[in-house]
Amino acid sequence: MKKKVTIIIPAFNEVENIIPIFNKIEDVFFTLNYNWDVLFIDDGSSDSTLDVFSKLSDKSNFKFISLSRNFGKDEAIKAGLDHVDADIIITMDADLQHPPTLIPEMINKWEEGYQVIYAYRNGNNPHVSYFNKLFSSLFWKLLSKLSGLKLEEGISDFRLLDKKVVLVLKSLDEYGIFLRGMVKWVGFRQIGIQYVPDERLFGETTYSKKALLKLAIYGITSFSTKPLYAAIYLGFIFSTLSLLYIPYIIISMCYNLEVPGWSSTIMTIVFFGGLQLIMLGVIGVYIGKMFMQSKNRPNYIIQSNNL
Ligand code: UDP
Ligand code: MG
Repeated sequence: MKKKVTIIIPAFNEVENIIPIFNKIEDVFFTLNYNWDVLFIDDGSSDSTLDVFSKLSDKSNFKFISLSRNFGKDEAIKAGLDHVDADIIITMDADLQHPPTLIPEMINKWEEGYQVIYAYRNGNNPHVSYFNKLFSSLFWKLLSKLSGLKLEEGISDFRLLDKKVVLVLKSLDEYGIFLRGMVKWVGFRQIGIQYVPDERLFGETTYSKKALLKLAIYGITSFSTKPLYAAIYLGFIFSTLSLLYIPYIIISMCYNLEVPGWSSTIMTIVFFGGLQLIMLGVIGVYIGKMFMQSKNRPNYIIQSNNL
């Protein structure tokens, strides 16, 4: 029997991109011997994405789920994962930055026995400026180091997952999901393949540098408690350093030297005030997560679908 592939595509205000990506995928599968369908997740779009869905609804390999509001890309993909029933599940963006022509290569790897095949951005992307490359490289290094996950620079949400992996992901019911990390965390036989992202077909990206910072804090605090230890280490370092100051004070007293120091005192207060606020913030993030998790609210709410 032919194996079934479902492609999950989150879409937030992607009205112009829906039909082009659906057609591209249709072309790709024309030459492949698999049953397939596409499951679009409307993530609370405010444009006419939903109207385009109704135009496609007579096609048998078009499926959709519509969320009651904008929940975020990872939540939208999770909604898809929770509702698929296929042997192979592929997730990708709606804007054609993830080239559908990579799908046959991914499926070949699956046939070889890999259970997770994820795509990460090729570093030599000519569309990206030097500064952005540097920022991105630092961002991924920091995220990898602090989260304890080996995340390749530019790892994307373009990936193929085996049915078994999806079953595990379905069972992970946590607040604030970071799928790229969760997919790494679950294990199984994984392999990364490189891709060169295309330019966005229509519309604009919804991710800014601020959003990336938020992603980093999310990613790190979802997978490790390392930042909490930073407080202890910093505390040790600075207490030790302050001991070095004692001989200086004693000598000053013996020789009756004036103790100048308004500015150094203020500087010290400001510095440690800042440090304490940062650490309070870090602790706060973890408490906030426990608070949200304890409410046990769903990651998304579905308002309609054609499953
Ligand atoms: N997306 C979504 N919900 C959001 C933001 C984005 O479902 O709140 C979808 C979007 O429609 C696209 C994918 O996530 O299919 C990637 O978004 P985008 O292209 O804006 O991000 P970038 O490519 O810049 O990382
Ligand atoms: Mg994009």
